[in-house]
Amino acid sequence: MTENETDYPEIREEVAKLCARFPGAYWRELDKIRAYPTEFVTALTEAGYLSVLIPEEYGGSGLPISAAAAILETIQATGCNGGACHAQMYIMGTILRHGSPEMKAEYLPQIATGALRLQAFGVTEPGSGTDTTALRTTARRDGDDFVINGQKIWTSRAEHSDLMLLLARTTPRNETARKTEGLSTILVDMREAIGHGLTIKPIRTMMNHNTCEVFFDDLRVPVKNLVGEEGRGFRYILDGMNAERLLIAAECIGDGTWFTEKSVHYAKERQVFGRPIGQNQGVAFPIARSYAQLQAARLMVREGCRRYESGQNAGEQANIAKMLAAEASWACAEACVQTHGGFGFAEDFDVERKFRETRLYQVAPISTNLILSYISEHVLGLPRSY
Ligand SMILES: Cc1cc2nc3c(=O)[nH]c(=O)nc-3n(C[C@H](O)[C@H](O)[C@H](O)COP(=O)(O)OP(=O)(O)OC[C@H]3O[C@@H](n4cnc5c(N)ncnc54)[C@H](O)[C@@H]3O)c2cc1C
Repeated sequence: MTENETDYPEIREEVAKLCARFPGAYWRELDKIRAYPTEFVTALTEAGYLSVLIPEEYGGSGLPISAAAAILETIQATGCNGGACHAQMYIMGTILRHGSPEMKAEYLPQIATGALRLQAFGVTEPGSGTDTTALRTTARRDGDDFVINGQKIWTSRAEHSDLMLLLARTTPRNETARKTEGLSTILVDMREAIGHGLTIKPIRTMMNHNTCEVFFDDLRVPVKNLVGEEGRGFRYILDGMNAERLLIAAECIGDGTWFTEKSVHYAKERQVFGRPIGQNQGVAFPIARSYAQLQAARLMVREGCRRYESGQNAGEQANIAKMLAAEASWACAEACVQTHGGFGFAEDFDVERKFRETRLYQVAPISTNLILSYISEHVLGLPRSY
């Protein structure tokens, strides 16, 4: 449709071929019963797409973030859903940046092959979503173990992950100078933990996202599973956020592309009053407007990736990219439903499914308001609002 796909054309072509094996009917069946797309994730893993950000010395392909963005964008643009496994690409970044040489050697090669799935990220709690440092899950030292107690919520893919990167408080809040201190990142091996202090309970949501509540009841985890230094976990989580935001923004660009292509196709085909509905500006303009939004967001994703890859601070660009891309994909989704009239609500058209799926990205992994707060405070220097 457009000349957008200029970077990584071979990767995009191969990913699109793989995705063609998983058409709308595949996703519709899973959506009905809220099941995990195991075959799809296995295919991506075996093709090596989920390990592109892992350096070659650990068995990945050591590609830059724009390659990962191209993969996720393509997955979404073909109508598939990378939300089932996108975190396998980036959660490992915390181990890569902050883990000890022994930890990296032990885990990264296995994550690269997919033998170990590290795609559960335990940060949000029932009482602390946006306000992360208010979290209450504790990890208390007892000999060579941490003893973990508390609860996480919205831990996506927990039932389909071997490991979880957990953020827990290791020093009580009243013993730290700042609320951002005393939090630690710990790698939890969920295979050993289930039934021994770890319980996972799926949450049914408006889309098929395999997200869960996770309960910790005196769960023992070896101290050697601490990632980096004790007490610096919040900083480590922040370090990974730009990558996550850029990659999810790329997924939104893919979603927006899918919606726009669907809208254009239908608006040309559907005849009402003896002419294609797309001939009416009332139908064409919302598609054109949301496409314009999408293209602007696409440029910001590219700029964010460029800065990230050149080692510059990409905070502003990653946040803006995530916000604009999530809003653009939603505008494209809205135009697509409206263009399809009644058929926008029919399951067989996939529009309603994608509409539900793309809505998430204005709330998670960070909500639009919090991005606006970031821009206000950290970019524009306005007073902090909370
Ligand atoms: C399907 C799904 C999957 C998720 N997956 C994960 C995961 O894998 N791991 C994980 O740790 N978390 C996950 N999350 C959690 C997600 O990151 C949080 O839902 C998100 O950060 C918002 O937190 P909250 O839901 O507690 O909302 P709250 O913090 O309660 O906020 C509610 C609303 O108030 C607004 N608000 C709050 N404070 C302010 C303020 N100061 N100024 C302006 N507006 C404000 C917010 O923007 C939001 O719109 C997931 C969530 C969902 C729904």
